[in-house]
Amino acid sequence: MSSITVASEADQAVGRFGGYGGRYVPESLIPACQAVADAFAQAWADPGFRGSLARLLSVYAGRPTPLTPALRLSAELGVTVLLKREDLTHTGSHKINNVMGQAMLARRMGRTRLIAETGAGMHGVATATAGALLGLPVKVFMGERDVERQAHNVFRMRLLGAEVVPVATGSRTLKDATSAAMRDWVADADEAYYCVGSVIGPHPYPTMVREFQRVIGDEARRQCATELPAAVPDYVVACVGGGSNAAGTFAGFVDTDAKLVGVEAEGGSGAANGEIGVLHGFQSLFLQDEHGQIREAHSIAAGLDYPGVGPEHAYLRDLGRARYVTVADAEAIAAAVRLARTEGIPPAIESAHALAWVIDAAGTSVLPSGSTVLVTLSGRGDKDLTTLMTEAEL
Ligand SMILES: *Cc1c(COP(=O)(O)O)cnc(C)c1O
Repeated sequence: MSSITVASEADQAVGRFGGYGGRYVPESLIPACQAVADAFAQAWADPGFRGSLARLLSVYAGRPTPLTPALRLSAELGVTVLLKREDLTHTGSHKINNVMGQAMLARRMGRTRLIAETGAGMHGVATATAGALLGLPVKVFMGERDVERQAHNVFRMRLLGAEVVPVATGSRTLKDATSAAMRDWVADADEAYYCVGSVIGPHPYPTMVREFQRVIGDEARRQCATELPAAVPDYVVACVGGGSNAAGTFAGFVDTDAKLVGVEAEGGSGAANGEIGVLHGFQSLFLQDEHGQIREAHSIAAGLDYPGVGPEHAYLRDLGRARYVTVADAEAIAAAVRLARTEGIPPAIESAHALAWVIDAAGTSVLPSGSTVLVTLSGRGDKDLTTLMTEAEL
């Protein structure tokens, strides 16, 4: 999809967050996007749909997830750290909240199959899980190079009954898988539903995925009210790849005085270091070279290995409502080890980025001693054991 812009100005104008967002897709995809937008608006206003989704997230995915006070780490840092435990959901990350919502929407729309693209395989696995549960066949497009690198997740998707389609064009990675998935969708838009994995893509995906993830922030808001004397934490911190776990977390606190902090990987810092551009059907901030070409992202955390950021984050940054900071690979690894040893919780390396910022900033003017901090643990570290075995100095 790269930088192709053939949609009309009116199409580009829908779903804006300030100057970002919109719908930059080939004209042939506009009706498919609009059908999803209409169906989502209806479903989200329907207590029946929301009740069924809430029940599924409860009886299947393990919600509500706990809010865990990190007591030993807090004592060491001099700030009160509360962990929102998305690592405890079925499949081990927040991605399940979104795919369950979209798979139920697909079924409500009468669609008979799901399409997804995946880089490292995590969104593919989540979509394959939702497809198996709801009886919808799943086709996951994956770059050939990623298929080779991620044998475990490829097998996991096949175990769950999904078809994994290796994409041999271009750089044979996520960008090419996304283009292939979009082509498959255009060709069969009456039967297929395209399941996007973060708060990115053409309208309505950034808004819809945030709404499916806001369960994180809404639960945490209620839990903080009983856990903290002030009811609301001073800081709300989450890692940012495309930005879905952060968007869902922030949604619960954006109307409070809490300071919102999004933590990106140094090599995937669209919000902190990007410039305005268009990719994957939306306008936002992307890492670019001096010719305006989108740069490839590099992070030790596969989920943060994305050159851009969801449009709402770009907007929150411009407004000054949220700030975006970066953490280096080595700091994230150290933070993962530290949480494992102080709290008995090995986090996903993505989530460890959020924690690394807290560890680094605690006791400085940026995050003064005595502050209260909510950190979303987006996922568990099981998937990262091999990385930790080579990277962590124990
Ligand atoms: C995919 C993933 C992320 C990054 O995605 P966002 O859309 O930015 O939330 C973060 N953490 C984990 C564990 C992931 O699997």
